[in-house]
Formats: sequence, C-alpha cells, structure tokens
Amino acid sequence: MPRQINLPALLLVFVLLISACTSTPEENTKPEIVVTTSIIADVVRNLTGDQIEVKSLMGPGVDPHLYKASQGDVSLLQNADLIVYNGLHLEGKMSEVLEKLKRSKTVLAVSDGLAEADIRTINADANVHDPHIWFDMTIWRKGVVYISGELGKSFPAMKESIDQNTTQYLHDLDSIHTLCRAEIETLPTEKRILITSHDAFEYFGKSFNFHVRGLQGISTLSESGLKDVTDMVNFIIDHKIKAVFVENSVPQKALRSVIDGCKAKGHDVTVGGELFSDALGAARTPEGTYLGMIQFNVSTIVNALK
Ligand SMILES: [Zn+2]
Repeated sequence: MPRQINLPALLLVFVLLISACTSTPEENTKPEIVVTTSIIADVVRNLTGDQIEVKSLMGPGVDPHLYKASQGDVSLLQNADLIVYNGLHLEGKMSEVLEKLKRSKTVLAVSDGLAEADIRTINADANVHDPHIWFDMTIWRKGVVYISGELGKSFPAMKESIDQNTTQYLHDLDSIHTLCRAEIETLPTEKRILITSHDAFEYFGKSFNFHVRGLQGISTLSESGLKDVTDMVNFIIDHKIKAVFVENSVPQKALRSVIDGCKAKGHDVTVGGELFSDALGAARTPEGTYLGMIQFNVSTIVNALK
C-alpha cells in the first residue's frame, strides 16, 4: 500500500518555508534617509539613532562644491523615504536633481531652518549666499532643531525618540560650543587671523571673533589667480602671520605657492595644520563627527597661532 501523503501538513510546511524566505530582516524594513554631505549624515544619525538607515552621497574629504551626482546617487535619491541637503548652493552641481526630487518627495534643506539674518550674503543681486553654515554652532543648532522637527512629522511613530535624541544632541552641541569658546579665549584677539585655502570659515570667524581670509572664494569653483596669491603674501607679511591652514576637501597647491611667496620675501609662514572644512574626517576618528571636527579645528587653529 502506498504511503499516504498528508496534504494539509505538507502545505503548512510549504507556507512556513515561503514566509521564512520572504520575511526580510529588520534592517531592510527601516526607512531610508539619503543626505548629501558627511556632516549632515552625522547630524541626522544622531537624531534618528538606529531606527532609520542614513546614507550619505559624499564620504569624508569630498568637496561638495564640485560634486556631481552619479547615476547610482540618483537612484539612491529616488528610492529614499526622505532627503536632507545643506542648501544655499553648497551642492551647486546637484541643484537640478534636488529640485526635481522635490516634486515627488520630502527634500529638506538644513539652511531652511535658519533666520534670514543668520545667513551671510555674498552678492545680494545675484542671490549668492555663504553656504558654510555649520561653522557657526549657534546657527547650525537652529538647522538641527528644524530638521529634527521635520523628521518627527515625517516619521510620527519615531517622533518621541527623535525628540529625546535631539535633546541629548543639543546638550552635547552646547557643551562642545562652551569648550571651544573657552579654548579660543586663550588666544589673544590680535592673533586671531585665520587664513585658509577657500572661504569656508567666515561663519566661524564671526562666531569666534576671527579675521578670516580664504585664498579661493566661497566656492572652490573659482580658482585663485596670481593676483590673489600676491595679495595674500603681502597680507601675511604685513600682519606678521605665522601659520596658514590647508583643508581636507581642497587641494593644497595654491596655498603652498603663498607659503613659497612669503619665503621668497623673507617671511617664514608654516602650515598650521589641516582643517576639516566641507567634509568630515574618516569614520571612527574624532574628526569623523561634526562635534569632533569643530573641536579638532579649534585646537589646531589655537595651537598654531598662539
Ligand atoms: Zn566650501
């Protein structure tokens, strides 16, 4: 007699097998936020914790002024549940892509959380503003609060924990700001002249009372010319400046020619260190976080100029 097949039991096993194969692990069901820069990625991760997947288009050391979205980036953006970028034309070559995405999904600019008076205008007629808003911790804080509020609206089930994370993060941000302020107080005001590769530090200068000059303009798109180099050499000699600073996201060549120009005229100026300007340092280093990079920059500047 042939063995009888227990059909209902077999069916049950089959259904269980299928559901075991198709049930996705927890990570894959997380909502996904895609951001442009490493600085924004760090902030958003701090606000959302591990309940949301945060992906950054630009990694450490990448210059956002020159960055073009790849085909892979575009599909990441299209599949994102939400997008966060800096705004004020920092991601100059991505404007068109971001504008298009705004028609179909939530696309947030950190700069939208700032008051108009917070934003430095470079050219009012041409509507050009300084995008390096993260370097004034008090105004960046407003951007963080704004993004947090919007995240709470977009992910209501997570609002409570986003709010808790935000409170903790703002507390940390305020503590680091106080520490930075105290460290800068040790540097006499006449020594607070900060010379860098490009004009990323004007907000930093306003916030911490530094005179700031960048060899290139607010965007790295405009390259420095011979006249810029000569003017900078004369400025450094006139003000007896002992150190200038290279940046992690900008080639060092132009600033090196300033140093050589000073030497040729008998003034020794050194590289005071590499500052993190438009991108964070490597992951799992202190400079790999926004708060860590600010602290690193402050210590580097104070140590080199005092
Ligand atoms: Zn920049």
